[in-house]
Amino acid sequence: MSELINRQYYLAKRPASVPTPEDVPFRDVPVAKPAAGEAIIRNMYISLDPAIRGWMSDVNNYIDPIAINDPIRSSVIGRVVKSNSDLVAEGDVVMSLGAWERYTTAPAAGMNKLDENSGIPLSNFLSVLGPTGLTALFGLMDVGKPKAGETVLVSAAAGAVGSIVGQIAKMQGCHVVGMAGSEEKCRWITDELGFDAAINYKTCGDYEAAIKAACPNGVDVYFDNVGGDILDAALMCLNRFSRVAVCGWISTYNDADAPGPKNLWQLVAESATIQGFVVLDYVERFGEGVGQLAEWLMAGKLQFKEEIIDDLDNVLPGFLKLFDGSNQGKLIIRIPE
Ligand code: NDP
Repeated sequence: MSELINRQYYLAKRPASVPTPEDVPFRDVPVAKPAAGEAIIRNMYISLDPAIRGWMSDVNNYIDPIAINDPIRSSVIGRVVKSNSDLVAEGDVVMSLGAWERYTTAPAAGMNKLDENSGIPLSNFLSVLGPTGLTALFGLMDVGKPKAGETVLVSAAAGAVGSIVGQIAKMQGCHVVGMAGSEEKCRWITDELGFDAAINYKTCGDYEAAIKAACPNGVDVYFDNVGGDILDAALMCLNRFSRVAVCGWISTYNDADAPGPKNLWQLVAESATIQGFVVLDYVERFGEGVGQLAEWLMAGKLQFKEEIIDDLDNVLPGFLKLFDGSNQGKLIIRIPE
């Protein structure tokens, strides 16, 4: 095989705020040779997740920060082009931890084979049938523990995770309210996904008043995707023994000096619980989770959106859409074969 050249986006310096092309430039380098037990995959899909912004910062996280000069870490789906392992063979399509790059060299033991002829679009394994759907499922059901008749509030509600959370909460018989950043997103979650109410947080004014109006019986479960002032307002609307499931704090990711929540004392006032989680906590149950999500999908009970952007060179502007809210559902980069 002639030498493969890899275009790779890497961390040149830690972003002070929104990542710039100076923070995350690209280089064209030879593809790393696979050691014993490793394989090279030619990436077809790259998942763009808000968490990646956290990994660019040198702070304690559930996995190590990306080191300076290392490629930007990401989940990928690709085709094996060379294998030094019995676990995967040339031509296999796999999901792996990879990076914002054309080719990834990684341990085959960490690659999950996907059936490209199953009739399920491969990109779905990064969205509704992948980490996104699993985050919604386990975060809501295991951490939020919704009961029929309760009120569930979810922020970033038209996003990849939030839109699935709301639909699962509806299936549990809950009153479901979503907060999102445009009229179009609010219409989508109420008119098409079945949320009971939506709050456009960019136009509603007083968050606390808006939440109280949309949740007349108070909030039993708050699924927090954003942190910041919306979390503070939600805390003021909690019911006795309510649960706050902290999934992510996207409003703070580009602002290291963002103030912390002021209203956590409401946990005392209402004997409420707050719990953070990462989807990796549930890795032993991923099979069960994918089975459940697939069943709902096939029964027409789950809808989802993917925004797929061609090509690798759009990876950084694409990523930034997560922070200005211009993404429509799960954001994925495709590198056509
Ligand atoms: P989304 O598809 O929801 O995209 C991010 C959305 O966040 C944007 O579309 C925007 O929607 C909203 N947003 C951006 N900035 C702000 C802000 N300052 N205030 C309020 N809303 C904002 O992304 P994901 O579904 O992938 O991720 C959602 C959250 O879930 C993130 O916090 C992420 O870190 C977290 N997450 C956590 C996981 C875990 O294991 N704990 C796993 C996966 C994701 P809008 O137009 O409504 O503003």
